[in-house]
Formats: sequence, C-alpha cells, structure tokens
Amino acid sequence: MKILVSNDDGVYADGLWALAKELREIATVTVVAPDRDQSGAGTSVTLRQPLRMIEIKTPLDGVAAYSVEGSPADSVILALRLVLKDSVDLIVSGINEGPNLGDDVYISGTVGAALQGFFYGIPALAFSIAAFGSLHFDVAARLARLIAKEIVDKGLSRRMLLNINLPNLPPEKLEGIEITRLGERRYADRIEPGHDGKRQYHWILRGKSEWQTVSGTDIWALQKNKISITPLFGNPDGFSRELLKSLAPALFQKLVDDTDS
Ligand code: MN
Repeated sequence: MKILVSNDDGVYADGLWALAKELREIATVTVVAPDRDQSGAGTSVTLRQPLRMIEIKTPLDGVAAYSVEGSPADSVILALRLVLKDSVDLIVSGINEGPNLGDDVYISGTVGAALQGFFYGIPALAFSIAAFGSLHFDVAARLARLIAKEIVDKGLSRRMLLNINLPNLPPEKLEGIEITRLGERRYADRIEPGHDGKRQYHWILRGKSEWQTVSGTDIWALQKNKISITPLFGNPDGFSRELLKSLAPALFQKLVDDTDS
C-alpha cells in the first residue's frame, strides 16, 4: 500500500509526522506538504506563478519528504503527478491543530489537500484535533492507521472523502465514534487595521465562532466527547454511510484497546 501524507500546517508540523510515523507501520509513506503554515488555504490551486518543490531531510527512515512553496492542494497535485505518478492508494491529510467542523471544511487547507485526492479518485482522509496546544496526536494517528487498514481490507469505495475530528482526549476519556453530517459553525470576522509606515493594511481576525448544536452533526459529536467522521461530497460511487456506521463500534474498540488485528 502507498500512502501520501500532506497537511496545511506545514511540512514541519508535529501532527504530520505523528501521522507519517504511524502509517509507516502498514504502508510505504511519502510526505509532500506546504513549506509553511497554509491553514485556511482551502482548495486554492496556484495557477499564476511557478511552484518550487525540494526534497527535505526526513526524520523518519524510509519516508521521503518534499516541501512545496505553495498550497496544500498544490502539494497534493505535485505529489500525484510528479513524485508518485498517480500510484497512490490513500491520501491522509493532517493531523491539523484545531478543529475543522461544519462550515470550516470549505476554507480548511486540511480538507483542501484531501479533496485533491478525491478529485483524482483516491480515497482521502482529513484529520483534525479540536484543540490548540498540547495535542493527543498519537490517538488520531492510530485511528488513521485503523481506518486505512479498513479501507484496504474491506475495499471501501474509492470515491470517498472522510473529514475526521477528534476531541483532544486520551483514549479512555473518548465516548465513541459517530458518523455525522456537517454542522453549522459561523465566524464573526473582525478587521484589524494597521499601518506599515507607508500604507494601510488589514488583518482578518477570526472572531469567536457561533456553534449550533444539532443532533447528528460533527459539532454535536465533539461536544459529547466523541470522534466525528463526516463523509463529504456525496456518494457517486455507492459509498455506504451505513457500512461506515456498522464499522464504527469495532473501530472504536480497536482504538481504545490499541490493537489493529
Ligand atoms: Mn491548519
């Protein structure tokens, strides 16, 4: 199995390497990711300037890593067309620092990277932890390995993009896995004006978000200390939400027990 790992927090982010390390146990892993934090880049593709990509020194044996001076989507396109030449079984994006819930998915670079995989007909997973600071990357990475294995073993649909959010908790504090739909989470953006000595500039500051707790949504699942798995973008290839629901309890048990059999 060949897995491409990317993200939007940049190629040196801890979450990305936690993911690569865990997935290396079951697959040949290649990392191609933006050279810096590209959070909020969404699905943006760079079409008006050339892109630079360099192979960087890797902290993990056997995992080649490339840094791209571009967006998460740029990174995945270069990975698929140039580095790996389309021979990829799965794309895993993340692990993002901070949630990507509800309306977030439309500006999320974490989801944006995964979405490129979806466009190419490759199953894609986007992982985020709904907190900032000291994060339980190990739990999310282990879940990624378990789901990757399910995708291969059960032959789940290739037209699949799962947006996965975890509460920042150790396994024993997690309450389960819910298969959800997107909730509504609205931002109150604020503009902070400034002056650089020559010209005026503006910072867009994301204000405190408004959460709507509606049963069955990703936001609702996280508030119940559950992991949320949201299948995105329909099921043109017959992807089954019901199948995923039937797999969730066993998946959660394996995560808590730390087994992958
Ligand atoms: Mn990010």
